[in-house]
Amino acid sequence: MSTESATTDPIYRLRAAASGREAIAAVREGVVYRDAETGEELEPVATVLPGPADGSSLPRTPVNLTVCRRCEQLSPLDLATCEFCGLPI
Ligand SMILES: [Zn+2]
Repeated sequence: MSTESATTDPIYRLRAAASGREAIAAVREGVVYRDAETGEELEPVATVLPGPADGSSLPRTPVNLTVCRRCEQLSPLDLATCEFCGLPI
């Protein structure tokens, strides 16, 4: 799978009916998705709203953020510059 197709596929919230376990993933038509631990089939239950057009494509979670050394705000790791003060990351 190329990174290009991963970013253009619609992103859905998926849920396993029996256990209620959830995942967020780019979903492709005709592909069956399974929970990595239980093996249950995951079904799309909601679509994820797109973020800002020129912003980060990463989920805003601690593992994907870095602290800017100038303004000390959290910025996504996949941006070239701090989204608050513009300092290169
Ligand atoms: Zn900054």
